[in-house]
Amino acid sequence: MIRTRFAPSPTGYMHIGNLRTALYEYLIAKSKGGKFILRIEDTDQERYVEGAVDIIYKTLELSGIKHDEGPDVGGDYGPYVQSERKNDYLKYALELIEKGEAYYCFCTKERLDSLKESTEGGDVAKYDRHCLFLSKEEIEENLKNGVSYVIRQKIKEGKTTFHDEVYGSITVDNSDMEDQILIKSDGYPTYNFANVIDDHLMAITHVVRGAEYLSSTPKYNLLYEAFGWEIPTYVHLPAVMKDQHNKLSKRNGDASFQDLIEKGFLPEAIINYIALLGWAPSENREIFTIDELIEAFDLKGLSKSPAIFDPVKLTWMNGEYIKAMDKDKFYSLAEDELKSCVKRQDIDLKKLCGYVQSRIGTIKEIGSKVDFVDNLPEYEPSLYVHKKMKTTEESSLEALKKVTPVLEGLNKWTNDSLYNAMLSLISEMGIKNGQMFWPVRTALSGEPTSPCGASELAELLGKEDSLARIKKGIELLENALS
Ligand code: GLU
Repeated sequence: MIRTRFAPSPTGYMHIGNLRTALYEYLIAKSKGGKFILRIEDTDQERYVEGAVDIIYKTLELSGIKHDEGPDVGGDYGPYVQSERKNDYLKYALELIEKGEAYYCFCTKERLDSLKESTEGGDVAKYDRHCLFLSKEEIEENLKNGVSYVIRQKIKEGKTTFHDEVYGSITVDNSDMEDQILIKSDGYPTYNFANVIDDHLMAITHVVRGAEYLSSTPKYNLLYEAFGWEIPTYVHLPAVMKDQHNKLSKRNGDASFQDLIEKGFLPEAIINYIALLGWAPSENREIFTIDELIEAFDLKGLSKSPAIFDPVKLTWMNGEYIKAMDKDKFYSLAEDELKSCVKRQDIDLKKLCGYVQSRIGTIKEIGSKVDFVDNLPEYEPSLYVHKKMKTTEESSLEALKKVTPVLEGLNKWTNDSLYNAMLSLISEMGIKNGQMFWPVRTALSGEPTSPCGASELAELLGKEDSLARIKKGIELLENALS
């Protein structure tokens, strides 16, 4: 059975790239009837962030990515929080020492720092294996005296080759690798060690993660080999980019799931969008629910070229989800935003909401669409001139003057009656529809675009306000033409 895992470190921040990793892991497992596991990788105690684990749960829940096993739901191989398994890892490190595949290192921080200084540039210096050559007696003496130690992996000579589903075959010279630390001086395993032990213990078949881990993978493979364990299938994913040259980073403001939610994007649209960031379905289609993604997903569709995060495309996709949404559901989602933008009590907000629904990319765009309701904006008379509608300032003035008494005399102020009244006036005047509807729409909204047409706007604003706005339009045009 396929078993994948999402192994986030609780940083308090769910980067879009990480969420995409979780999604692909979920899809790989679910498309083949497998299991998707959540494991919290928190052995770096210095980086502990309060509340960070909750952000992980919340993000997955909102995204519809349900884990089968994990700290909160249990499962066959728990616990799934690495800090709770501290002692398990030591046992495995000791086994490697037994096998001659790892060794105690008692080097002090000062000694290690001096190694760095002695290399050119003074940054990364490979550990010089000083402690690999300690005698048995020296080691025992140190341990007995409680000298602080770490345990290091002994990288063997030669080359390591592995296969990645996205990047193909990769070979590295082992001499390029350092004898990495497996157990730190605080007794906790390093991320690199715990990761391998857990992937094995939890019977993970497919390891999916960011391509930044490609360079560590040969070290992991040497560990698998040292233990005599089976190496999992690797799927490394290219970074999500802001543009051709820069990764999408925290500084960009919309790099995390939380940022996007705050900007008014829907979780299902975010998931749909990020699914396509680096994966192409075999059919030419873009809108997928998460269940449809499970159906369509295939590892072969993954690409190794970096995916560029395009907020415009995401906004478009979000708009498609909004359009397709049940009207009542959309209203409950939009209600707060609408109420914060429209303070007038006499407005049928549900109706207004219905008009707006097909015209926005995110909920946050509602404001700009409905601002005119409370306050008619200042506008230029040139707004009345529309080439396609065949309107001029003169024709608009004429239309507004003629329509005023007709509307004043209307008993029923409904969209239908308003529309029909304007329609008869149009035929009476022998003008084109647009030559009436455009000026009325303009006078009522004061905007170049509005969420609905002239009669709908008039119905929404009510008789008194509509007539007052039309009067203002007449004055504006008269002044312009005098
Ligand atoms: N804990 C690692 C991270 O958050 C996960 C790497 C992996 O999936 O192996 O980046």
